[in-house]
Amino acid sequence: MARVIFLGSGGGRFVTLLQIRGTGGVYLIEGDARLHIDPGPGALIRMRNAGLNPTRTDALLISHSHTDHYTDAEVLIEGMAQYGKKRRGILIGSKSVVEGADGIGPAISNYHKSRLEKIYVLHPGEKAKLGELEIEGTPSKHSDPTTVGFKIHSKEGIISYVSDTEFFEELIDVYRGTRLLIVCMVRPLNAPIPFHLSTETAGRLVEGVKPEMAVLTHMGMKLLRENPWAQARWITDRSGVKTIPAHDGMSVILNEKIKIEKAFNKNKRSNGNAR
Ligand SMILES: [Zn+2]
Repeated sequence: MARVIFLGSGGGRFVTLLQIRGTGGVYLIEGDARLHIDPGPGALIRMRNAGLNPTRTDALLISHSHTDHYTDAEVLIEGMAQYGKKRRGILIGSKSVVEGADGIGPAISNYHKSRLEKIYVLHPGEKAKLGELEIEGTPSKHSDPTTVGFKIHSKEGIISYVSDTEFFEELIDVYRGTRLLIVCMVRPLNAPIPFHLSTETAGRLVEGVKPEMAVLTHMGMKLLRENPWAQARWITDRSGVKTIPAHDGMSVILNEKIKIEKAFNKNKRSNGNAR
């Protein structure tokens, strides 16, 4: 069984700064492996709310060096490194995140890099190994030119994370074979902006890839002001693929079927041992 937990469903500068939705990224638990994708602002707090212990994370996957995707990475590296006392944990990131590129980044200090057991600079088409999981970098067209997405090959099939990108046809081939497609979609219908996906283009991607299910996340202000469910329904109608908008704390469970579990009770705090 694999569990995908949405530690946020918001993105873009307004939603991020006002925390209208969380921006803690996506957390994947599959067997013994735990990975955290794009831990933006508040990821640590959202983990606490979800009962997740940051010292148990094995790897951070960071798609690019924009704040809504990486801000909490350093403190979470200290978590993976057992309060910074050991060299433990893996970082898989774009060139901009790890080394800096095109005047953007790096997102991680040298000290924090020194706490990690392994660092991968992931380019599109390259793969990194994490136990039995294989993580494949995918291409993007974004204002951080080295942005990557992730195609995670797991026992429960392929789980893909489409990071910030504009639509281009090649993406359909790249993500083909995906079971659960997680899409960073900032904008609703009739409101596209450069370098990002909106309902029309996310719809073309979902229709082409034909995953078992698609989940929309990283939603911006204009999209949240519309009804995100109506935007998702537009994609479902067009593609024939069940598409839903994420909400903070929501889990997706992958077994023979894919099921949604609603958010945890926000008042139920963890003692750090829960998961
Ligand atoms: Zn971005």
